Amino acid sequence: MIRSDLYINGEWVPTAKRHPVYDPSDNSVITEIAVAGDKEVDAALEAAAAAFPTFAKMPARARGEILRKAFEIMIAEADDLARLVSRENGKVFSDAKGEILYAAEFFRWFSEEAVRVNGEFRHAPSGDKRILVTHQPVGVSLLITPWNFPAAMATRKIGPAVAAGCTVIVKPAMETPLTTLAIADILHRAGLPAGVVNVITPTPAGPAVTRLLEDPRVKNLSFTGSTQVGKLLLKQAADRVIRTSMELGGNAPFIVLDDANIDDAVAGAMLAKLRNGGAACTAANRFYVSKKVAKEFVDKLTEAMSKIKMASGLTEGAQLGASVSIKERDKIADLVDSSVKQGGKVTLGGAKPTGDGAFYPPTVMTVAADNDILKEEIFGPVAVVVTVDSDEEAIRLANDTDYGLISYVYSGALDRAIRVSEAMESGMVAINRGVISDPAAPFGGYKESGLGREGGFDGIHEFLEKKYIGVTI
Ligand code: NAD
Repeated sequence: MIRSDLYINGEWVPTAKRHPVYDPSDNSVITEIAVAGDKEVDAALEAAAAAFPTFAKMPARARGEILRKAFEIMIAEADDLARLVSRENGKVFSDAKGEILYAAEFFRWFSEEAVRVNGEFRHAPSGDKRILVTHQPVGVSLLITPWNFPAAMATRKIGPAVAAGCTVIVKPAMETPLTTLAIADILHRAGLPAGVVNVITPTPAGPAVTRLLEDPRVKNLSFTGSTQVGKLLLKQAADRVIRTSMELGGNAPFIVLDDANIDDAVAGAMLAKLRNGGAACTAANRFYVSKKVAKEFVDKLTEAMSKIKMASGLTEGAQLGASVSIKERDKIADLVDSSVKQGGKVTLGGAKPTGDGAFYPPTVMTVAADNDILKEEIFGPVAVVVTVDSDEEAIRLANDTDYGLISYVYSGALDRAIRVSEAMESGMVAINRGVISDPAAPFGGYKESGLGREGGFDGIHEFLEKKYIGVTI
């Protein structure tokens, strides 16, 4: 059963106004979801605020066990959930299944973290008091998620919020709301008390989010999406000095040094470029390859990309699905077209196919270091390669961006790879690997890629306030 109503205070709430959700592989309508108006936005906030005092006091073990149960249900229902993700997002089933398993892990990880929030007890150096440090849930949190990982971006926020004892209002992207509603259904069945998680789908998003951020009951904003919208929300959050976590855009460099194993680098590039059809904030966006190995790398990457089977997400054996919408697909096509006008050379793909689906084919290009495509987050299956003369040039070009989420480095020498990693202005570096995202590791960016860290030991602290209590003994 596909859930399509709002989830407020533990109940499914229909509305008269509906909004279509499309399958981007053929533009058919999957279903129409309820649109939240002011009344429903207010009801969600009311429910979250009312549930908070009791939920904050629920024993951490009990909160953790609800998350653990939700993890188990997600794993048991992984295939159905993956089909839903694939249908509303366009990504192929194997990517969708991978996302569901990754998403479920956030519930398991934070079910374990819920009971490991440590405080401190210390003697003040002056000897006049004891220093006690404790952590308390920050309160009602607004969670806003993007369309590219509709399951994982929801659980990466809901998991730590619930573990910390916060209540939340989740606002998923309007392209992919069905997965978040399905996850709310799972949490409901796992025994989450009413009002702890509420899901609303207002459109347009802006006025509803502003309404929430202006309300003094909202204490925290956790946003994943574009840097452009993130900056707007940071400005709004500043008015009430609301705590924020920002997971924003990326423009990841993928560096191949002259001593790298090229077959391994190509295998890593295929993952870093094609996972999720390239629509990942962690997607390799700019390949900086040493002159000595550039021809071999481009030839082998072109060959590997040429074997990729592009088809609608649920087709047997499909490896590359549709983009989330025709609009997003056309953005990819426009970036490639203008890059070619600036001298970019296409070795594979480079033209959008005819037909109703939002498809763009695997594409490999070589460009000069000043080509404008290197400044943009491509969000599609387009590998753009630049040849470099030295490690220093690779580092300089890789860091020449306002973004700083993740970098990839391939080298045969670990000391050399670590030297380059330490020079990267990014929150994460992958050495000789095409994917490093892990619920147990801190995920987040430098520069305009964001503020704060999700996952790992940090994730729960995005939903906790630190309190110092000084006491004379
Ligand atoms: P987006 O910024 O357009 O939308 C993200 C969310 O914000 C959606 O729910 C949307 O409805 C909402 N939104 C849009 N305008 C708003 C407004 N004015 N006020 C309040 N909310 C608003 O991003 P997207 O296109 O859905 O997602 C793609 C972007 O997300 C890419 O830039 C990608 O890099 C980024 N992303 C980052 C991470 C990360 O962890 N750093 C992870 C996944 C995606």
